[in-house]
Amino acid sequence: MGYRQYHPIYLDLTSRPVLIVGGGNVALEKLETLLPSGADITVVSPTAAPDVQDLSANGALRWEQREFRDEDIEKAFMVIAATDDPGLNARVFKLGEAARKLTNSVDDPVNCNFIMAAIAHEGPLQVAVSSAGCSPALAQRVRKRIKQEILTPELGALAEFLGSWRDRVKAALPTYQARKSFWESVIESPIPGILEREGVEAADAAMANLFADHRPHRVGHVTLVGAGPGDPDLITVKGLKALQSAEVVLYDRLANPALLNHAPSNAPLIDVGKAPGECGRPRQETIHALLIEHARRGRRVVRLKGGDPFVFGRGGEEVLALAEAGISYSVVPGVSSAISAPAAAGIPVTHRGLSTGFAVFTAQGASEAETVPWEIAAGMPTVIFLMGVERLPNVVRRLREHGRPADTPVAVISRATLPEQRQAIGTLESIESLAAELQSPATIVVGEVVRLGSPELTRVLEGVGA
Ligand code: SAH
Repeated sequence: MGYRQYHPIYLDLTSRPVLIVGGGNVALEKLETLLPSGADITVVSPTAAPDVQDLSANGALRWEQREFRDEDIEKAFMVIAATDDPGLNARVFKLGEAARKLTNSVDDPVNCNFIMAAIAHEGPLQVAVSSAGCSPALAQRVRKRIKQEILTPELGALAEFLGSWRDRVKAALPTYQARKSFWESVIESPIPGILEREGVEAADAAMANLFADHRPHRVGHVTLVGAGPGDPDLITVKGLKALQSAEVVLYDRLANPALLNHAPSNAPLIDVGKAPGECGRPRQETIHALLIEHARRGRRVVRLKGGDPFVFGRGGEEVLALAEAGISYSVVPGVSSAISAPAAAGIPVTHRGLSTGFAVFTAQGASEAETVPWEIAAGMPTVIFLMGVERLPNVVRRLREHGRPADTPVAVISRATLPEQRQAIGTLESIESLAAELQSPATIVVGEVVRLGSPELTRVLEGVGA
């Protein structure tokens, strides 16, 4: 390498003391590039070119009309030796170098610890060209071509426009990476063209749109929220808070629609729970895809599900799909109808002296192979069936087949916790006819605890659990 490898930087010289030794035309040439930088310039020289004198008279610089003194170096941030005396220039450099100042001796690369570049600029865009002292004339030629062919006034205006958005973008996108790819997408968007053709106002509007819409690097999140059994007051406080800050809500048929009023008014509300049999009910995979898509757009997604999300709510499948897609999620448990529907009918699922435990089953296995373990179900002190009102005869028959006596108390509670709540209380023998009118959703409870929900049956209980 026959030349030095300089390290290019852009210095902030605003109000920083710059000393120029010499006041002739060479100094004037350096002044042209230094003055716009806002440096605090002192020229030390017994004589000065008329233009330098004018600049001094205008207050653009300070001219000290005297010989250079060694101690002049001390206060300077940057020193430029621009006299026509090579010996003096070399001496200034040696002093500057010794004091670790940025020092340049004009046209004398050996006596410099920095050199100046040929500059092309357009608004805030600046291109500095150096030939490492090999050919300043060539560097000037390159500078000129950059200025004519690349640094158009439109680019300068674009740089200024983007600069006006910097603080807002920085506040909204916390990481350097996020900002970097955001700016790349802006530069590739139609916004530069809009600025050029329609001006700043139109570009500002387009930018605001893009900004509101395009937050790919804000991390989305899905919260599965249990909505409770029906009464909208039975959502948890945590679930309510999640709903209040949701940016999109996907809700089920069983989640009370009144809860949706808590979502922000601009959050889209997506119904993914048409009743079974109604056409157009989204498949589970479609729900997964929607959750993933909205989360990937950086949104806070609330998946509002009836009861508790993990009790026959396919919540488990949803979190598996989210995990597989690499999407963060959390689960806010809910009040499950399995326990609250009996409670709403005055039936505790356990009771001292009557029931030491309960089991919850679906009356509808996903397939014939996945049926209820009837033997276990029949043997439980309390057994609860969800999704079973249409299958009540089957439930009764199976429990009887597996040894549960005909006089075992049974309750069917429909639309529990809602104003339309209805219930039937009887025995395995009588329940089918008593519950014939009851509609889905309904919960079936079997076991001695059911007596607690019925005034007549309770009388039989005197002394139990006391
Ligand atoms: N994840 C829900 C259950 C979903 S399966 C939960 O934890 O509650 C749907 C079944 O729940 C219905 O078929 C019905 O058996 C029961 N269910 C839901 N809401 C109900 C209500 N308000 N009253 C009675 N049973 C209800």
